[in-house]
Amino acid sequence: MRQFLLVTLSLAACSTSAEREEAQEPPPIAVYPIQPAARLEQSGSTSSRRADAPASGGSCATSIGYHGGPVMTNAIKVYLIWYGSWAGNSAQTIIPDMIRTLGGSPRWKIDTTFTNGGGTAVNAGVQLAGQFNDAYSQGSALSQGAVFQVVRHAFSGGLPVDPSGVYYVLTSADVSQTNSDGTTFCGNYCGWHTWQSYLLFPIKFSFVGNGDRCPSSCISSRLDAGSPNGNRGADGMASVIVHELDETATDPQINAWYTSTPNGICENADNCAWTFGGTWPSANGSTANAHLGGRDFLIQRDWANYGTGYCTTSWAGTYDGTAGQWSGCRGTGCNVGTPAGLVGGSDPMKTESRPMPTKSVVDLRT
Ligand SMILES: [Zn+2]
Repeated sequence: MRQFLLVTLSLAACSTSAEREEAQEPPPIAVYPIQPAARLEQSGSTSSRRADAPASGGSCATSIGYHGGPVMTNAIKVYLIWYGSWAGNSAQTIIPDMIRTLGGSPRWKIDTTFTNGGGTAVNAGVQLAGQFNDAYSQGSALSQGAVFQVVRHAFSGGLPVDPSGVYYVLTSADVSQTNSDGTTFCGNYCGWHTWQSYLLFPIKFSFVGNGDRCPSSCISSRLDAGSPNGNRGADGMASVIVHELDETATDPQINAWYTSTPNGICENADNCAWTFGGTWPSANGSTANAHLGGRDFLIQRDWANYGTGYCTTSWAGTYDGTAGQWSGCRGTGCNVGTPAGLVGGSDPMKTESRPMPTKSVVDLRT
């Protein structure tokens, strides 16, 4: 009983401080814009952009800069919160399988090219740490603030408050989501990530909606004829989920790896949004560029912080440990020589190591 009382009192104290912190201005959110370019081409536009070319509207710098904040150096623990109606949807098998096999993969290791100020790299480990089902606790039209309320509801329901966690609010296709600035899921973005202080911890969380709500905006047109796992919504979400995890790991509190542009901030994966590099035909004839566990996926590329940086689907280099090599690498001035361990597959290095012709990808409105 005594222990129980102590726990109760300390929780009450924590709640008070958490509420005080929540009254502060929330940090900016980093959004993943919809894909105008691919659909322009598909609809017969005379645009010279190729399919899945970066979206117009912003301009990323030629490198991603470091701003002194933390990166996620412990194994990243992913929590999936299934919001709305997901019963019978194979997404609940496909997405967990992807998270379980992402850690240590060539795709995830791209993010290990980013370090904190002490030279410690983003962790190569990713774990599926928990899942929670929420049947519309905040209704079917979620405000920006309601997304964090969904996370809090999951805490009440048993998910741990984990500083190494990344909490995904995954909404079913009948759920809308609107941010405080009036921008919307499907209208302006396909997902976003941010953080909020809760019980004195910086809680990292992300919103990703089911692209089946608006496939022309949030699912690559390459999956129109079929997707690697036979569920276009889930396969579309897979790409957005990894994009947001790339950014959360390297810029969890929006104060580490990013570049400011006139249109907002540009994080690592934003440099490569809606680009997929080399692909191969998956077993069912659909298009894939990543193999995780026993499944193929089509996952947008990510920015490797190597040399002057470039978009790629994979990375197989390891932390060198030599002074002036990885440990000294801060985006610009990374003079580390030729990548030795790149895995090519059908994603040729001569393509991947060439800088993107333009890095104008970001249409960030926040
Ligand atoms: Zn992004």
